[in-house]
Amino acid sequence: MSYFEKLQAGTPTLSYEVFPPKNPLGWESLYATLAEIRRRTPDFVSVTYGAGGSTRDKTIDLVSRIQRELGLASVAHLTCVGHSRDEIDAILDQLTRAGIEGIMALRGDPPKGDAAFLPHPEGFAHASELIAYIKARYKFRIGCACYPEKHPEAVALRDDIVHLKLKQDQGASVAVSQLFFDNENFKRFIDQVRAAGVTLPIIAGIMPVTGLSQLRRFRELSGTEIPKKLTDFLGEGDDETIAERGIDFGVEQCADLLDSGVAGLHLYTLNRCTSTTRITDALRARGYLPR
Ligand SMILES: Cc1cc2nc3c(=O)[nH]c(=O)nc-3n(C[C@H](O)[C@H](O)[C@H](O)COP(=O)(O)OP(=O)(O)OC[C@H]3O[C@@H](n4cnc5c(N)ncnc54)[C@H](O)[C@@H]3O)c2cc1C
Repeated sequence: MSYFEKLQAGTPTLSYEVFPPKNPLGWESLYATLAEIRRRTPDFVSVTYGAGGSTRDKTIDLVSRIQRELGLASVAHLTCVGHSRDEIDAILDQLTRAGIEGIMALRGDPPKGDAAFLPHPEGFAHASELIAYIKARYKFRIGCACYPEKHPEAVALRDDIVHLKLKQDQGASVAVSQLFFDNENFKRFIDQVRAAGVTLPIIAGIMPVTGLSQLRRFRELSGTEIPKKLTDFLGEGDDETIAERGIDFGVEQCADLLDSGVAGLHLYTLNRCTSTTRITDALRARGYLPR
């Protein structure tokens, strides 16, 4: 069953996210990670899209290789940053030729040093515009982002929810969430979006904690809440100790989400697999995922 059919059937999906590395050592370690991920039979692997420069071509390359060489369904992220419609067409044509079926259509963050996102004069200002464009011209399954604890630029969560509904109306058929550590915030968000008419399957984005400094960085970058439950659970210790506890916390977080009927789990790997595959293995051992 494809990931899309599983989502339609209400069977939870399992997916992992990677990014195109910048140097040969990074590629070596990514391929080792992908080999481990493949053994966990994910429903799809998604590849992020960089803010600019040569890593962008590498997304297309990598997503094609994951599908062709590893036989895994892969989803390409694509952002509006710096792209005209013609450039977007050229990328989508390449992805079509590579047999990619899924696109995560995003606006993207402002490039480093820019205070705010400025759309390309011949491009798109919001993810919903990119989604509408793709939907009108291509056959991709379109995914979009959502933010259980609010997008940092949004004044209120309800504005974000209106914009998520717009992404659904324009053709998105699944949403993947920003990372979060407080399941209650996610569950409340699901109730709120359902009340606003959002019917999309919403996959939970999960990032295992591997160190206390990494946790602080998450908070700065994504604005995610760090609940007391998490800091109490992690306590103090070196990165190795914290990473072990981060795995245990991740297992409990995912088990609770699966108990509550989440559409799927999307594990942010940062190109390393130890924590994410151990979480998957523990969930499988406890019967939460099919063997
Ligand atoms: C699962 C996931 C994957 C990601 N992958 C990548 C990646 O590969 N590469 C990358 O660069 N970034 C990625 N991001 C980050 C993302 O690009 C940023 O969070 C970006 O700031 C917003 O993108 P978006 O698609 O959610 O934008 P949008 O949906 O356009 O929303 C951005 C902001 O604008 C507001 N807004 C939306 N529509 C309107 C409207 N019509 N009028 C007024 N305001 C509006 C929203 O409320 C929100 O505050 C990812 C995020 C997630 C959650």
